Amino acid sequence: LYDRDGWLWHDGDWLPWREARTHLVTHTLHYGMGCFEGVRAYEGARGSHLFRVAEHTRRLLDSAHALDIPLSFSADTLIQAQRECLARNRLTNAYLKPTVFLGAEGLGLRAKGLTTHVMIAAWDLGDYLSPEAASVGIRALTSSWARHHVNISLCRAKTNGHYVNSMLALNTAVKAGFDEALMLDPEGYVAEASAANVFLVRDGVLHTPEVTSCLQGITRDSVIRLARDVLGLEVCERRITRDELYTADEAFVTGTAAEILPLRELDGRHVGARAGAPAVGEPIADDSVTASLQRLYRRVTRGELGDE
Ligand code: PMP
Repeated sequence: LYDRDGWLWHDGDWLPWREARTHLVTHTLHYGMGCFEGVRAYEGARGSHLFRVAEHTRRLLDSAHALDIPLSFSADTLIQAQRECLARNRLTNAYLKPTVFLGAEGLGLRAKGLTTHVMIAAWDLGDYLSPEAASVGIRALTSSWARHHVNISLCRAKTNGHYVNSMLALNTAVKAGFDEALMLDPEGYVAEASAANVFLVRDGVLHTPEVTSCLQGITRDSVIRLARDVLGLEVCERRITRDELYTADEAFVTGTAAEILPLRELDGRHVGARAGAPAVGEPIADDSVTASLQRLYRRVTRGELGDE
């Protein structure tokens, strides 16, 4: 990733990609106190555009505020910088990572006078998993690592340090031969995947965990709105147990990078078997709620369905 052409935005300046540097005592590198976003650009009917960039930028500013990191850039400036980042790098289907981090003025938890910095990097996004993942879906293992607790971290903030927990869970699941980790909250209720929200469908109703331990995903919000407003489904945000996922008619995970991925197997159980879902490894049915939401999400991300 180091050696490529392109431009990065750093505190209002444009840096050639290869020359972007930060000092080794950068505070955030040591303690993970920073926040970031993952934003996706799509090539649509009206050219390339950033999907729901205002919501992502708002979440970035909210994360910084919740972490008590002062930011001197406005949402408008950051949105403009993200748009320019896409154009300068001549990217169309891309992933952008605006990141807020603390400077190198001091090390230690009590360091004073730390400066705040913002950088925006963008790169071409290949497929998040394999190209078939969208139809074949993923196999997950419930993790022995609990997701965050509201009194241990700020679950609504997309904090760099939170991802140690995500990676512990994901790496364990991947080493055991699975695609994803399903993470439970500290009380044992379903929280989310390592970097994606979780949904289940049962008797035509969509259920997803309420936002306590899980991130308030922007894809989660898009899916809830598409399900309610376009498909006319009832959507329930509530506490969910893992056996509800085992016995669901359908389940899927959502995220900016993952989009909507069917969850086909959890802890060795074929999700949807009782409802007649195709075997694990086969594509999901075209008339499933998951496939309908995937089609709608594809249109909405390409700017073909009204507002972003
Ligand atoms: N949960 C976690 C922990 C994540 O990292 C992400 C990805 N940002 C999500 C959920 C999904 O959020 P979004 O739809 O906003 O990308």
